Amino acid sequence: RGAVRRKLIAANWKMHGLSDDLSWIDAFREALGEAHDRDILVCPPATLLAAFTKACRDVGIATGGQDCAAAQEGAYTGDISARMIADTGARYVIVGHSERRAGHDERDVHVRAKAAAALEAGLVPIVCVGETLEQREAGEAIAVVTNQLGASLPEAAGAQGVVIAYEPVWAIGTGRTPSPEDAEAMHRAIRKVFPGEGAMLRILYGGSVKPENAGDFLSRAEIDGALVGGASLDPEGFARIVNAVW
Ligand code: PGA
Repeated sequence: RGAVRRKLIAANWKMHGLSDDLSWIDAFREALGEAHDRDILVCPPATLLAAFTKACRDVGIATGGQDCAAAQEGAYTGDISARMIADTGARYVIVGHSERRAGHDERDVHVRAKAAAALEAGLVPIVCVGETLEQREAGEAIAVVTNQLGASLPEAAGAQGVVIAYEPVWAIGTGRTPSPEDAEAMHRAIRKVFPGEGAMLRILYGGSVKPENAGDFLSRAEIDGALVGGASLDPEGFARIVNAVW
């Protein structure tokens, strides 16, 4: 029989959030209502990660970092290691987000090293991949993304130890999304990168997920959850997205 993949709804706060925003947790829980069968993850900025993790410990919300270094310690001023993220009690870390790839010149080889560091520290890396609009319009989206994924995954990465986030670059923060059918086709292609164990792999869709469209994506069998940026900052809106899983 097919493996059961629990849906994972993840909030990526990016560079938003001050200590007052810990109040998000109570507002979100109140808006969420009754528990459904799904996993919830919040990735706040690094400055809030320890406090957030402590506050979320007993309320069924996992936490994660938004990036990590490739090394675990050393002379790397300003960097944060996967071991440090794990030390806060967080369980996940996003690596290879397109804003890191584009704005910090991170290439697949760096993403792979960061994902390996995350695994070594006992974290689940959320490895982000996605094509540009130009690549999609040229009909290259699936080839680009599966190549990117192959080059961004460490040797040791098994389907159960990682999460993949498919985030088309042109859909992030733009209000545009692929059709759920196109997203699903991509997820199917990504699953094939894990021969034999693809059925265990959780693949999230990310890029302009909102309360209004969340159900269109989350109801698809191939789509195992969402990585939500802008719309996750509003606790009521994020609760509506989580509740689009049924
Ligand atoms: P968005 O961002 O939901 O604001 O489009 C998604 C992401 O970058 O993870």
